[in-house]
Amino acid sequence: MAKGRMHSLNTILIHGGIDGDERTGAVNIPVYQTSTYKQIRLGENTGYEYSRTGNPTREALEKLTAELEQGRYGLAFASGMAAIAAVFTLFSSGDKILISKNVYGGTFRILDKIFVNFGITYQFVDTGDIAEIEKNLTKEVKAVLVETPTNPLLEVTDIAAVAETAKKHGVLTIVDNTFMSPYLQRPLTLGADIVLHSATKYLGGHSDLIAGIVVVDQEELAQKLYFIQNSTGGVLGPNDSFLLIRGIKTLGVRMERHQQNAGKIAEWLKTKNWVKEVYYPGLPEHPGYKIQNRQADGAGGMLTFELKKKYDYRIFINSLKIITLAESLGGVESLICQPASMTHASIPPKIRERIGITENLLRLSVGIEDYEDLLADIKQAAEKAEA
Ligand SMILES: *Cc1c(COP(=O)(O)O)cnc(C)c1O
Repeated sequence: MAKGRMHSLNTILIHGGIDGDERTGAVNIPVYQTSTYKQIRLGENTGYEYSRTGNPTREALEKLTAELEQGRYGLAFASGMAAIAAVFTLFSSGDKILISKNVYGGTFRILDKIFVNFGITYQFVDTGDIAEIEKNLTKEVKAVLVETPTNPLLEVTDIAAVAETAKKHGVLTIVDNTFMSPYLQRPLTLGADIVLHSATKYLGGHSDLIAGIVVVDQEELAQKLYFIQNSTGGVLGPNDSFLLIRGIKTLGVRMERHQQNAGKIAEWLKTKNWVKEVYYPGLPEHPGYKIQNRQADGAGGMLTFELKKKYDYRIFINSLKIITLAESLGGVESLICQPASMTHASIPPKIRERIGITENLLRLSVGIEDYEDLLADIKQAAEKAEA
């Protein structure tokens, strides 16, 4: 049982937040598909007035995610990007945000193309290097945004070390916890101020919705974020809130299987003569292995590998039968992507090569299928890809 929690994580996944419907006894919170609420009399309401401001289905989800991340306040948004936009809306003209150098492309884009127009600037830093962060903590800097492990090379950042440094300078630590999920990593307990998710990925887990979550523990931050959520209106609808609650119930069993499969595939890939490199923070030789072990309860379900030069990545990808070529991650089905042409296409080729994102680099979101079927699929594709 984790510190500060009434129940252990696996119980919160099922009974956390608002456990069922008080009025009818329905074991699942209903989809409150309503925009407005009847007022009892002038000046008196039930606690709900209008669904942008509050909706019981969304509220159940928000309470559940807050408990999972061990914060007191959760907020649900229409997408991961809407959640990120709401968090950046905390800042003002003249403020600067430090971001992990391999941050999610959409996070970079919204800063580079939208928030820059409002005078909020950003700078890339290697968040794995505390000295580099320290050096860049000038007085305009108001936040450090960390993603760990990063996409696609799965580099690990020490969240507690970043948060400690940031705190000394009065700077907020924001962690995008999408790749780990609260089942494996709880940044607020490591000193972060804000944790956010693309709930589209592991929290939802079934590749059937788009959603975003923000969790904080400080009341003042929560009030600001609620104000932003209600004022800018990027809220998650009741149907998707319901689906997300349903997905979260199986987060524990899914994450266990995701990482069990990923670990086995990573170990197996290491032994293959057609593989140049395997990136997985669960491998002891991974540079972030120790930190990952200390701050998370596992290495997760994402792994990246590089085919040797003489193997054709196009033939490899096109020969896969179970593993699906698609953007996104975190669903029950295994997905593969080629970062160079997909998630990281906007980075100039020379820079891409320099940071290790070669054409032959492939990212796997390992699903929960039978791992031997996944191995067989990869094996037959590699045989075909030999030039
Ligand atoms: C997908 C993703 C996002 C964006 O979330 P959406 O739900 O697609 O808006 C943000 N951060 C990370 C790490 C992601 O993988």
